Amino acid sequence: VGDTTEPPTARLAGAPKAQARTHASHKGSYGDVAVIGGAPGMAGAALLAGSAALHAGAGRVFVGLLDPSAAPVDTARPELMLRDASALDLSGMTAVCGCGGGTDVRSVLPRVLATAAALVVDADALNAIATDSALQAQLASRARRGRPTVITPHPLEAARLLGCTAGDVQADRLAAARQLASRFGVVAVLKGSGTVIADDSGAPTVLNLTGNARLATAGTGDVLAGMIGAALAAQQPAFEAACEAVWRHGHIADTWSTNAAPLTAGTLARQAPF
Ligand code: AMP
Ligand code: MG
Repeated sequence: VGDTTEPPTARLAGAPKAQARTHASHKGSYGDVAVIGGAPGMAGAALLAGSAALHAGAGRVFVGLLDPSAAPVDTARPELMLRDASALDLSGMTAVCGCGGGTDVRSVLPRVLATAAALVVDADALNAIATDSALQAQLASRARRGRPTVITPHPLEAARLLGCTAGDVQADRLAAARQLASRFGVVAVLKGSGTVIADDSGAPTVLNLTGNARLATAGTGDVLAGMIGAALAAQQPAFEAACEAVWRHGHIADTWSTNAAPLTAGTLARQAPF
């Protein structure tokens, strides 16, 4: 169980700081993130994840959109490099896959799972994997190839992956997160009030205590995925990257002024820095 005053990783000896920026560094020092998602009508989810990755310190952020008619640039966020999802070379990159991908994300998943150096799998990408044993085998094979992988299901997405009901997942969230981590050899982030982070390497399972119902609004999950992506791109180990981003994501909501406007996902993304 973590606490609300510091990230659970703060007490892990030697845990690297994701965002320590040294004088002689350059954008390549902080890694490349490629968000894959944004089917027609759902570009916003991918742009939110990309924005969160940028604000969390990634050196360069590409957004590979599945909508072939998407605009070539987001003038509100010109830092994001928009691309066609099927044309984006992911080798050496940290991919964040799912965000608004709809059923279209299925077509790019085999390549994403095979080539991304590090990977966050969220939302529609998890739903596609849940119904496809070949994709499940590909996901599990990443661990054998030493490729850091984090999955970020909410309870219903977790239930689909485990072949049970969301009620079953909620009845024992610790067990569900551990089962996901061991079945797929990944770091599993089971979201919701009291997010659970489990991995398959024997580290203690973490129950995160930050966060509140201000986060219960569209797009906050995409923001979390982008934050984890930035930490992976900065070479933070996957379990620590997930724990720290989840803690920070919740902490922003906990410290959001009660007198301020509602905490939208776009605002949350802009508060992402460590
Ligand atoms: P998603 O379900 O993908 O939209 O993600 C929602 C995000 O907001 C996750 O990180 C959840 O853990 C978080 N969240 C939503 N509702 C709450 C809540 N009541 N308390 C704490 N965190 C929440
Ligand atoms: Mg979501």
